[in-house]
Amino acid sequence: MTSSKKCALCPENLAGKNKTKEHIIPNAIGGRKKTTGFICNDCNNKLGEGWDAELARQLNWFSLAVGISRERGEPPKQIVQTVDGDKYWLLNDGSFTPEKSSYSEKDLGGKIEINLTAKTIEEAKQRLKGIARKYPNFDIEKALGELEVKTNYLDSPLHVSLSLGGPEAGRSLVKTAFAFASECGVPHTQCEKALAYLLNPQAEDSPFGFAYLSDLVQGRPTDSIFHCVSLHGDPKKKRLWSYIEYFGIYRIVVLLSDQYAGPHRNEIYTVNPVDGQRVAVKVNPQISEKEFSSLMKGEGFDQEKHKAAADYALPIILARGQSRALERAVKEGFDHAAKSLGIKENEIIPKEKAAEFTGFMMEKISPYIENLVRGGRRNDQH
Ligand SMILES: [Zn+2]
Repeated sequence: MTSSKKCALCPENLAGKNKTKEHIIPNAIGGRKKTTGFICNDCNNKLGEGWDAELARQLNWFSLAVGISRERGEPPKQIVQTVDGDKYWLLNDGSFTPEKSSYSEKDLGGKIEINLTAKTIEEAKQRLKGIARKYPNFDIEKALGELEVKTNYLDSPLHVSLSLGGPEAGRSLVKTAFAFASECGVPHTQCEKALAYLLNPQAEDSPFGFAYLSDLVQGRPTDSIFHCVSLHGDPKKKRLWSYIEYFGIYRIVVLLSDQYAGPHRNEIYTVNPVDGQRVAVKVNPQISEKEFSSLMKGEGFDQEKHKAAADYALPIILARGQSRALERAVKEGFDHAAKSLGIKENEIIPKEKAAEFTGFMMEKISPYIENLVRGGRRNDQH
């Protein structure tokens, strides 16, 4: 099959090496579905990747917190700060590690006590080698054998930025709506609002707005968050528009055309960024004229309603973090118990050691449970 389609952003024909697949929702935040016949490889590399990278950077906390799955690579770890001012790295498995390593020496008279916390096993090994150089009597082999991975649980709530913005992230959003329209068969030239914005880096008249005035999603699940992009065409109103939602919390309406003359359209693509599955939600196309024009004028960022969106999405995201923390604690506990009792991988635990094994496991799982109980108490006070 040959395609005579042209790139939406330049005069290039989409054939041969230029015929590429483009993610409709960026894969960097967990999007899966791809479209062909949208933009060429060059435009994607020169423009698309920069726009999407900025969007992914702004949403990175969410990607780490829920543990999205990507086709390539993992979201980068990032520094987070608790309300008490402590800084931690948030890692891709949802766990935290102190921003800085710690090291202290105490002279106990004839004996030196060293306390060491490192961010990674590799770093710990390097530090131990340094100690061995300084103190030739130090038994490095023994210390290496005793190295253990320990998970930190935060005692204090986190600061999370809920903002999203800037010209690059904005263009990523508009590109997503445009790519979905292209996938649904809308000719590129019919999305003149999106084109004008994407082709002019100086354009300030952005064809999108935050959409918190009413909840446009029908059938919103209560136990999982999702990404979606929809497409709505109304020839009577001459309007082609799209609703985008990321992580249940970022809600945006994009105006693709106000000269639309095509057929009626109501389409949606949804994806759960954790497992890549579709989510059965719909977008209500019956948005009032008053509301639509408010959104386009930038009046859609209602504080109370934005808070309601956060109150919906954050508990789902945090619950997801909690179940991953439990999985991690159980695995650490299992490894710790096996190591302590000298049980090798895949070896069956002898019956007479079962009670001891459980005891060792609980040493690692208890801090997690304590943290849960403390968190529960804190919540009760509010
Ligand atoms: Zn191009």
